Amino acid sequence: MAGSRILAVEDEEDIRELIRFNLEKEGFTVECVATGEDALHSAAANPPDLILLDLMLPGIGGFDVCRALKREPRMAGVPVVMLTAKGEDADIVAGLELGAEDYIVKPFSPKVLAARIRSVLRRRPQGDADVSAVLKVADLSIDPSRYEVRISGRPVDLTRTEFTLLHFLARHPGWVFTRAQIIDSVKGSDYAVTDRSVDVQVAGLRRKLGDSGGLIETVHGVGYRFKE
Ligand code: CA
Repeated sequence: MAGSRILAVEDEEDIRELIRFNLEKEGFTVECVATGEDALHSAAANPPDLILLDLMLPGIGGFDVCRALKREPRMAGVPVVMLTAKGEDADIVAGLELGAEDYIVKPFSPKVLAARIRSVLRRRPQGDADVSAVLKVADLSIDPSRYEVRISGRPVDLTRTEFTLLHFLARHPGWVFTRAQIIDSVKGSDYAVTDRSVDVQVAGLRRKLGDSGGLIETVHGVGYRFKE
């Protein structure tokens, strides 16, 4: 992971240098650019391992950069971590729905920056082969082939929607999903899903999971995440 190439897109010089200094100190190779145009050129010429993308950029904005990257087959798999201003929850939601993997809220501490980047680089998208595997997290075991959840060996009675939701979140520990992304993942289940009903489903799921319910974390203003 040390030596991974990070492309940082940030128009403010101070922040750019802060990013460069701290990530290089952590052993990353860092390329910094100040505009969306330069980001797209650089990524096309030499795809990095991860892109750190400020959303508020002059010219081509961060959202358009993200959209363009995710449309390009060579770059669609390169994780994008957004840099967003505090209180811009709607931006975070929009960015995640465009395919960004994660986000960091400014102002950030250098420690958080490096830790978050390492965590995203560690994640590997789950292939279809893994979808039917039994997942075990702490006391919880999730068996997709039987639609069965057990806590310390004791079965938990879940609806199909609750099961699908839990399995989806648990397959991606640490990933934040918006309500719309969760709805997409459980569509085709036995229940009409709306934003509000995602909250209801999660509340019901947590109740049934008891102490293990805390594994499903609320990310305020954004969505839900399974504990890493
Ligand atoms: Ca900016």
